[in-house]
Amino acid sequence: MAETGPFPDIRGEVVLRRLLEDTIADAVKRARVDMPSGEAAKYCAECGDEIPEARRRVLPATRICVVCQSARDADRTNVGINRHGSKYSQLR
Ligand SMILES: [Zn+2]
Repeated sequence: MAETGPFPDIRGEVVLRRLLEDTIADAVKRARVDMPSGEAAKYCAECGDEIPEARRRVLPATRICVVCQSARDADRTNVGINRHGSKYSQLR
């Protein structure tokens, strides 16, 4: 008869905790890479406009202004749809 003790899943818990610690360490490492300076850019990396302080406070890692960000989001959600005469159409 196998004796499992009061914590039959103790091994599983240890593995799980190691996995969790690895995951957290990875996330921390990645977050540091994403925010090398820990500060937001003061000017938009795309159009050069000043990024409002409120936006920088809410999104400390942001590098582009809200106008460029929404343009990017729109581009991403409308992949395949030619909304505004893309540069490719000018090549014809
Ligand atoms: Zn911009």
